[in-house]
Formats: sequence, structure tokens, C-alpha cells
Amino acid sequence: MTGSVVICWVRRDLRLADNPALRAAAATGAPVVALFIHDEVVEALGAAPKWRLGLGVAAFATALQAVGSRLILRRGPALTVLRTVVAETGAREVHWGRLYDPSAKARDVAVKAALTADGVAVTSHPGHLLHEPWTVGTGAGGFYRVYTPYWNAVRGRPVPAPLPAPALVAPAVWPASDDLDGWRMGAAMQRGAAVVARHVRVGEAAAAARLADFVAGPVQDYRTARDFPALAATSGLSENLTYGEISPRTVWHAGWRAMQEGRAGAEHFLKELVWREFAYHLLHHTPEIASRNWKPAWDDFPWQGNSAQAEAWRRGRTGVALVDAAMRQMYVTGTMHNRARRVAASYLTTHLLTDWRIGQRWFEECLIDWDPAANAMGWQWVAGSGPDAAPYFRVFNPDGQAEKFDTLAAYRQRFVAELSTTPGSDALAYFDAVPRAWGLRPGDPYPAPVVALAEGRARALAAYGARGAGLGAISSDTGPADRGAAGSGRLQDEPLDPGAETGRT
Ligand code: FAD
Repeated sequence: MTGSVVICWVRRDLRLADNPALRAAAATGAPVVALFIHDEVVEALGAAPKWRLGLGVAAFATALQAVGSRLILRRGPALTVLRTVVAETGAREVHWGRLYDPSAKARDVAVKAALTADGVAVTSHPGHLLHEPWTVGTGAGGFYRVYTPYWNAVRGRPVPAPLPAPALVAPAVWPASDDLDGWRMGAAMQRGAAVVARHVRVGEAAAAARLADFVAGPVQDYRTARDFPALAATSGLSENLTYGEISPRTVWHAGWRAMQEGRAGAEHFLKELVWREFAYHLLHHTPEIASRNWKPAWDDFPWQGNSAQAEAWRRGRTGVALVDAAMRQMYVTGTMHNRARRVAASYLTTHLLTDWRIGQRWFEECLIDWDPAANAMGWQWVAGSGPDAAPYFRVFNPDGQAEKFDTLAAYRQRFVAELSTTPGSDALAYFDAVPRAWGLRPGDPYPAPVVALAEGRARALAAYGARGAGLGAISSDTGPADRGAAGSGRLQDEPLDPGAETGRT
């Protein structure tokens, strides 16, 4: 098969609308082959994100079919597959939407260089973010290390209006495609898939409906209600944003319109969306945030490795109700409320003194909204080793957090069967979702705390205290409830990062 076909390599942009790569491919006027590759980066995904990505790919294939196009599926190393499809179709152009995490970036740089050397024109496009990370800089020419000045820098920046879905010309002959079922992307989820499937909202139409529902209602009270895990007060869009089923620009403009219309919580919603941007800004400029302490002063901190206590945390069996509810929410729904993420992560890294990377990896395994930038930033922020304007780090008291944010215990009872005489469906679903090998049953007694909170807190304070001033002062549940309020700006305006542009692919 030869002809002037253009390939659009689809990755985390499973949408027709506001997809600059797809639109650029279509704008050539040539037939477009949208190609998804189950490559080394996909292979490395955790169980839940890989399963959820598979659902997204299926939905996008259906959406393309509805407009007379197709999603071609191939498996293998990205460069090998692209070269094969280029050879089969005679394509001279390849387009893709940029990604910013270290493994995707390394792959893309290599693929781009090789295809270009083959004489294929490769163009990468924005679309996963509101602003390319290298386009936002401090007055001194550096990048931002603190959120609030970052927010101030981008809040008034124009965000391009979302692009309409392109009309796609079909090739005369379609290249062969793998069968998605044959990839078994949900294999590692085992019986958990059936449980989490009740909670997912997959695809572009579902994401758009989610956004519309949110701006029509919950956005009004978002600022205050978002902190209460028992309430359905947040957008839930992280699940869709991470696979590109909706573009951040679409979300931004909807939030902006809601703000113009006077919805009280809309500006705060935009601020949260910008936390996602900030995470990518940091990941681009300091890729080590994904794997090493962002603050090197933490490098010799004596984190514990894996332990029976860490395993109890993973299983939602620590005996600390809010922590267990959070961990079970993740098992049952594939997501976790933001406040609960902070409490569960803080408990692991402070009360259990466990290396944040152990928690980071478990979230990477279990979250259907796993995002390489937000997850890394979230874990490092909670552990104290990451970017944070506050001149102290926090030891959250899970019971204090429960009293403040789950006063009536609705969230804890929703997910922890042992706390209720008549457990509901989500609490019971946990026992259907976890591996049978754990041998857990709803009638089991609730475990005693693996560490008494006071003891865990004292141990954490002693460990921090022993490290001296390098780590900063300690705040035991007295820090600002809202990170947005914490930005002192003291750490900003660092020297220009000379590598700022080099990661562009
Ligand atoms: P909303 O409150 O409706 O916010 C709208 C959007 O803003 C979100 O969809 C998300 O894209 C962005 N956002 C909101 N809060 C944050 C934040 N704190 N950091 C970055 N972006 C934010 N988020 C992920 O998307 N994937 C992750 O893997 C992830 N891991 C985390 C790990 C830890 C330890 C912590 C503390 C936070 C993590 N977060 C992660 C951030 C946050 O918890 C989720 O983005 C949020 O709970 C998603 O729910 P929502 O879509 O209803 O958010």
C-alpha cells in the first residue's frame, strides 16, 4: 500500500476534539492513519492504569469508527512498529501529541531522531497541557519551584480555544490491526476489574458529560466541599485527563466561563487544574522528581523499606480507619479522594516512616487516574522531600483529619465494612476486589492499629529531629489546610535551567 498517508501516533490523547496532532494530520488533506502502539512504555504501566488505558483505547476506536475512520492497533517497540507502518503505508509524515514524563520523553526523542534520519517528517504537538513547561518562566529566566508564583504567572495567560474535531479522510486500504482483546491489558487487574468497572467513566463523551455536570452544579461549592471525602464535590476529571479523553484547555475554558458567570468555586477549580500544570512544569525541569528526593537534604533520611506495616497499609488493614478507607476506596473505585490521598500518604511516610517511593509505586499500580507528574509531586510534597513553600513539613494526624473532614464517619463507613453493622455495597466490594490469596472476609474483626498513632508520631518527630535543621521545621497538623495558601515565593527565581528546552520532542 503506498500513497500520501499521514500517521497520527495516538498516546495519551484519546479524543477527536481539541487534538492538535490529529488536526494537523488531517489538515494535510491526506488520508490519516491513527495508530496506537502497545509499546515498552505501555507495557511498563501498573495494573489499573493499563487496564483503564485499554478501555480508553477501545472507546476511542469506536469514536473513530463513528466518523468513518479507524484506530490501528499494533504491538512492539514504538520505533519498529512505526517503521513497519511507514513502510506499509508509504507515509512520509508522522504526528503525535507531546508527553513529558522521562520514559515517554526518552522514547520519543529516540523515535523522532530515527524516523527523521529515515526521511520521515515528524512533528510533535501540544495538547496534554495548558502551557508547554518551557514557556512559563520566572522574571529571572528560571523555572518555578513554588506553586503560588506559578499560578500568578499563568492565571492571566491566554489559553487557546479548543479546536473542533477534524474531518478525517480514510486511506484506500487500511493497514492491518491487532485485536485489542488479544492484548489482555486488564490481565493484572484480575477480579478487581469487575469491581472498578462499576465506577469508571470512559471516553470523550463521558468526559464531556462529567465536565458539564460539574460546572452545572458542584463547582459552586467546590472551594469548601472539595475537602470532604464523603461528598461528590469534585469533578472526577483526573481519570479522563490522564488519557487525554478531554483536553485541559476544554476544562480550563469551562471553568473560566463558570467563573465569569459568578460561580463561587470556579476560580479555585482553575487553581487545582493548574496544580496539574505545575506538576508537569516540575517534572519537565526536574525529571528526577519522579524517582529521587527533590530536596537532596533528604537523601540520607533513614526511610524504612518494605515491611509488614507497609503491606498492611497497601491492604487497607492498618487499623486507622481514615487511612484504611482511603486505601480501600482505591481498590474499589480505582481513584482516591485528594484529602484521603494526602492522609494515606502522610501516614505511610511519617507514622510508618516508609520511603515515599513505596507508596508512589503502589498508587502507580492501583490508580486508574495515575499521572506520572501529579503522583510524583503529591508523594514528595507529603513526604516533605518535595517542592513546598512552607518552611516546615507536616505530620497529619489521621484521626484529627477524620474529625475535621469526615465528621459523621460517612466516608469511613462507606469503604470499611468492619465499621458498620450493615455495610454497604462499596464496603463489601472491597472483598471482591482484593486478591483471594489475602484471605479477607467481611466478617473478619477490624485490625488493631499496626502502630499507635502517638507512637508513630513520636517516632517520626524523633527521626526528623535527629536530622537537624536541614529538613525544615515540623508542623504536626497545624499547616495550612490548603497548599495554595502556602506559597511564600521564597524559593522562586532560581537560575535558568539550561536544559529547559532540550526535552521537547
Ligand atoms: P478536582 O478537584 O476536580 O480537580 C480538577 C483537576 O485538577 C483534577 O482532575 C486534576 O487534574 C487537577 N488536580 C487537582 N488537584 C491536584 C493536585 N493536588 N495535584 C495535581 N493535579 C491536581 N492526581 C492525578 O491526576 N493522578 C495521580 O496519580 C495523583 N496522585 C496523587 C498522589 C498523592 C500522594 C497526592 C497527595 C495527590 C495526587 N494526585 C494525583 C492529585 C489529586 O489527588 C487528584 O488530581 C484529584 O484527587 C483528582 O480528583 P478530581 O479529578 O475530582 O479533582
